[in-house]
Amino acid sequence: MPESLSTAHQALAAKAVEFARDVLLSAAFELAGGADENEIRDRVRSASKSAGFFTMTQPRAFGGTEASPLELTVVRETFAAANAGLTHWVFGPGPGVLAGADEPLRSTHLAAALAGEKRAAFAFTEPDDAPHFTTATPDGEMLRVRGVKSYVTGGATADFLNTLVEIPGRGRSMLVIDRNTPGVVLERRFQSMDGSHHAVFRFEDASVPVSHVIGKPGEGLPRAMRQIGDTRLAIAAEAVGSCRYIVGFVTDHLLAPHASGAPLGSREGVRLRYADLRIKTYAARSLLYRTARLAERGDNIVNEGICAKVFATETLSEVVDTAIQLVGGKALTVGHPLEKLYREARSLRLAEGASDVLRLNLARGRLDLDKGVL
Ligand SMILES: Cc1cc2nc3c(=O)[nH]c(=O)nc-3n(C[C@H](O)[C@H](O)[C@H](O)COP(=O)(O)OP(=O)(O)OC[C@H]3O[C@@H](n4cnc5c(N)ncnc54)[C@H](O)[C@@H]3O)c2cc1C
Repeated sequence: MPESLSTAHQALAAKAVEFARDVLLSAAFELAGGADENEIRDRVRSASKSAGFFTMTQPRAFGGTEASPLELTVVRETFAAANAGLTHWVFGPGPGVLAGADEPLRSTHLAAALAGEKRAAFAFTEPDDAPHFTTATPDGEMLRVRGVKSYVTGGATADFLNTLVEIPGRGRSMLVIDRNTPGVVLERRFQSMDGSHHAVFRFEDASVPVSHVIGKPGEGLPRAMRQIGDTRLAIAAEAVGSCRYIVGFVTDHLLAPHASGAPLGSREGVRLRYADLRIKTYAARSLLYRTARLAERGDNIVNEGICAKVFATETLSEVVDTAIQLVGGKALTVGHPLEKLYREARSLRLAEGASDVLRLNLARGRLDLDKGVL
């Protein structure tokens, strides 16, 4: 536990440890044994609502408790450190790019998404071979959308797509496109190595009301980047929690009997690698909590959030790789916790901003905009 957390934050972490042990780990066990997914999901959600975790990510205006950045960091890191999985069912849907949307979207889409009545997906990435950026051409009170979006996570089961489009003469804008709009074609579904599911959508002159533009035309990119930025601290917290889980796993392994006759932890070469795991995890955890505290006091953490996300996810990749080396071949068995974390860690260096693209943003933040702290 980072030393300077208040007693309230420590109590929150203790509650998350209990929830992970009593609800998440047993649910994951039942799921692995073939239990019905819908039934388990409903049970986890209901337990999360009773425990007060579900509403932490939801705005007060819609009945949520809107937890602070530090509270969310404590909970996310603690769940990941338990390697509990299923945390995507613990938190209620957040507002995402619809945060602060005006009517009619506030009632028709934001409220419905927060209540769990409609599901949103985020359509930002263009495929490498896209002939042009997805364009929304004005046509009276409607916009005609043409283009392709790829890697839309959860897109196949979403009710609407928050889509980054170019409105000629007005610039990049976020547009809500209902999935059942004629001309919205689900072209392909695929899965990435971390286990998440995505979709490619083609828009063939899909006709969407102008009132579905979120905020003002032209402010789509900052809105989209804010949404992505908000998720970076969350990813960093989960990556650091996973590092802690891995260090604990390796500690147990090094202290256990080994085929060579002495525990592996008695060997100096192994101890050096083990110390590296601890150094890196300590550094990543320190960085995470400092960034969460800056966010907690209201600082704009665009630059520090980038530092935290890049460092924590790259550290996780190094930590899990070394851990697999120390544990040996059984860690590569499909279904082993380290094998699963290895696949998840790899995705995190691309999702929500590729590491090198974030590095460029960070350099721009200081060199061109004079922003960011050390
Ligand atoms: C698990 C997962 C979930 C995702 N979910 C979504 C989602 O819900 N919605 C969505 O829209 N997208 C999603 N994505 C896509 C993700 O946002 C992109 O993969 C990521 O932004 C990189 O874009 P790209 O794949 O087009 O690669 P590119 O943009 O082609 O980048 C590939 C590499 O090229 C280099 N590069 C790119 N641009 C520059 C530059 N300007 N300067 C220097 N080097 C550069 C970097 O090394 C980069 O890693 C998801 C991805 C993953 C892995």
